[in-house]
Amino acid sequence: MKKVKTIRQLRKILWKLFSLYIRTRDKFTCVTCGKKATGSGMHAGHFITGATCTASLYFFETNVHSQCFHCNINLSGNWVMYESFMKERYGQKHVDDLKLRRTREMGMKVTSEWYDAKIIEYTNKLSTGV
Ligand SMILES: [Zn+2]
Repeated sequence: MKKVKTIRQLRKILWKLFSLYIRTRDKFTCVTCGKKATGSGMHAGHFITGATCTASLYFFETNVHSQCFHCNINLSGNWVMYESFMKERYGQKHVDDLKLRRTREMGMKVTSEWYDAKIIEYTNKLSTGV
């Protein structure tokens, strides 16, 4: 019998794929200080922080970008620089929309089917090249 994965396990699998996709897309270059690093030296950092957002925002491409360890961990996301990067890249409206989504979607839960679909999506995206 096939064992069903828990949401926790699915989230872990998806994050592995998603964060690799993000770091590859951003060419392993920190968006808030410009530093380059490979492997675990480069993180995928959230604009709307992971601790306060829903899964749909946690795994939303314009909310996550390459960040070096220093900016992501030591500077807690280096958010002043992060916000100006976001405004420059996507415009004020998109930044406002992300913030609104955070409030609007608070407490919203996603299903394991949602994770399954995302896992397939990012497996495909990575295999066809970012
Ligand atoms: Zn950095």
